[in-house]
Amino acid sequence: MSNIEQQINSLPKIELHSHLEGSVRAETVLAFGQKNGVKLHADDPSAFYSGRYEQDEFFKQFFGVCEAMASPEDCSRAIYEVLCDQVAAGNVRYSEIFFQPTMHKRMSYPQMLDGLLDGIKRAEAETGVKSRMIAAINREQSLDVAMKLVQDIIDNPCERILGIGLDGNPYFSASEFKPAFDLARRHGLHRTAHAGVPVHDNGEVIDVLGCQRIDHGYYIIEDKELLDRLVRDRVHFTACWTLASGYFATDPENSPIKAMVDAGLSVSINTDDPQIFHTDIGKEHVLAARHLGWDLQTVWDRIIDAAEASWLPESERQMLLAQLKKEVRDLGLDLITDRRREDSLP
Ligand SMILES: [Zn+2]
Repeated sequence: MSNIEQQINSLPKIELHSHLEGSVRAETVLAFGQKNGVKLHADDPSAFYSGRYEQDEFFKQFFGVCEAMASPEDCSRAIYEVLCDQVAAGNVRYSEIFFQPTMHKRMSYPQMLDGLLDGIKRAEAETGVKSRMIAAINREQSLDVAMKLVQDIIDNPCERILGIGLDGNPYFSASEFKPAFDLARRHGLHRTAHAGVPVHDNGEVIDVLGCQRIDHGYYIIEDKELLDRLVRDRVHFTACWTLASGYFATDPENSPIKAMVDAGLSVSINTDDPQIFHTDIGKEHVLAARHLGWDLQTVWDRIIDAAEASWLPESERQMLLAQLKKEVRDLGLDLITDRRREDSLP
């Protein structure tokens, strides 16, 4: 490993885009399945996450985890281990994690929440990592399901649940979820959505759903007018190196993430589903830098973009930024930690 890659590994990091159900250790999923009487597609931990990313294969693994988890105790163990793994793999200091309450058929929303809060608190006490959650729905689900989820969040107020997300198959319409996103906004919940193809998806999630961030959104580079607007508005994109590379199936040096950063967008590097994609948050930063020729400052700027785009309450967000900058100064790395935002705009 080169010197710069060692330095990247030493940086404290932020994760804004991982899914609980794509992050649970294989051994843990199999233990849940055995305990809860759920027959899964593999008995051997090394075979559960196959390393194949076709959509059917992806959903088989993702929904297998949803099915295997059946109690608050399972949720507690799963999120605790996920957070410990993020700290071990990438010095993560703060993590916003998606979870899919409506896909866990054997638990109510409050049951799931209880378990997650327990696991988060244990991980925080042990490692110092801070964490919040985003409740997400799939585009394949109905508006009724989405409305009920938002109502569940409103009826069970919790400062650890920051808002809602939308993911799943990008070919299903985002716009039909507008009433659910409007309800979330009226109740002070944050909103984000995965955007993919078609190209107009980015505009739809911003202008129709009122999202404040975009997950993936790589086709933004094909819509110059919208791109310029989202640079001006500092709309943040949570990019995921391995997924974007596989998705575009071109040589990694031409990853759209390079064009997004070069255009001046606010962009962070994340894992999406580290177990499914056989990656981790440290590796994602190293791979992006290696393939795109980024220097340490460019990697650091991605981490600061993430911290600035986090949905922590303002005082906590400022504390997080101060903590990150202090850590980097203590590491003695030659980085500009107090860049003025306006200086970095093109
Ligand atoms: Zn995702």
